[in-house]
Amino acid sequence: MNDIQITFLGTGASIPPPNRFQSSIAIRHKGGLFIFDVGEGAQYNLRKFKVPLRKEITIAISHAHADHYQGLGGLLASFNLLDRKEKVTIIGPPKFEEILKLLLTALQVQVSYPLVFVPMNPGDTFKGNGYSLTAIKALHFNNSLSFRWQEDPYPGKWDTTLLEKYKVPNKDRKQLKLGNSITVEDGTVIRPEDIIGPEREGRSIVYSGDTKYNPSLIKFAHKCDVLIHEATYPSDDIEQGQKREHSTVREAAMVGRLAKADITLLTHIGTQILNFKKEKEMLKSITKALFTFDGFVFKIPYEKVGKNLQPQ
Ligand SMILES: [Zn+2]
Ligand SMILES: [Zn+2]
Repeated sequence: MNDIQITFLGTGASIPPPNRFQSSIAIRHKGGLFIFDVGEGAQYNLRKFKVPLRKEITIAISHAHADHYQGLGGLLASFNLLDRKEKVTIIGPPKFEEILKLLLTALQVQVSYPLVFVPMNPGDTFKGNGYSLTAIKALHFNNSLSFRWQEDPYPGKWDTTLLEKYKVPNKDRKQLKLGNSITVEDGTVIRPEDIIGPEREGRSIVYSGDTKYNPSLIKFAHKCDVLIHEATYPSDDIEQGQKREHSTVREAAMVGRLAKADITLLTHIGTQILNFKKEKEMLKSITKALFTFDGFVFKIPYEKVGKNLQPQ
C-alpha cells in the first residue's frame, strides 16, 4: 500500500530498437498519475501494461525532440473520446506551449476538458498534489530539462512509549501536532520535539531526459531513490555520445554512482547497443543499475520514506 509505482511505457531512443517504443514513463502515486514524456506508443503501452488513468493527470515533457512527445496528441485526443472532464496539466520548456497548440490544431483536437500548460525553466519548481517537481538544464539541445520528482515530507513518528507512559489525551495530541507544549497529569511539560520525531523525507525520482554526461545532474540527483537516466550509446562510443549530446551506458551509471542513487534505471536505449551482456558485466563494477524494457515496473515502497536526504 502506498507504494510509488513506476511503469516504463517506452524505453527506446528516437529510432527505437525492436520491442521498444519511444520514451515514456508513468508514475502512480497517491495523488494521481504523473508521466515523464509521451513518445510514440505511450498510449498503447498504457493500456497494454494496465496503467489506470486517474482524475489527476500531470505530464512533464523534457524537451521538444519528437521522440519525447510524438504520442501526446493521440493521448490528449483519446481523453476526449473517454469523455474526460478533469484537468490535464502539461509541464514543459516554455516554447513547448506553441508546439502543443500546433499539435492540437494539426490533429483537429478540441479538448473537452481543461488543459493547462505550465512553462518550466531550469530552477523552477512546480507544486503538485503531494509532491514537487524541479528542473535543471540538461546538456542536450536548447531548452532541454532534467527533472526531480520529490514527494512531500511526512510528519515525524510519535514515540508511542512516551504517549502511553503519560497517557496523553487526544486533545493534547492535537496541540502537540500544532507545535504547542502540553502539561500532563503529573505536571510534566512535554514539548512536541520530546515526543514527535523529525520530519521524514519523501521519496524521490530523478529523470535525466536526454543529456550528455552532466556533472550538475550528480548534485541534483543526490541520494534519490531512483535515477532514471538515458543510455543511448554503448559504453565505448563516447565520441558519438558527445557529438549527439547523449550518454553512454557507462556515463549514465557513473552519474548514478556519484549521486549515490539507490538504483539507476537505464532507458532511451539506442539501436547501437548490441552487446548487452558485456554492458551488464561493466555495470556490476560501477553501481546498482538495470536496463529497463517496455513494461518494466519498479516500486518504491512506503518503507523508503525518511531513508534519504534532500539534495544538497
Ligand atoms: Zn530522445
Ligand atoms: Zn533529444
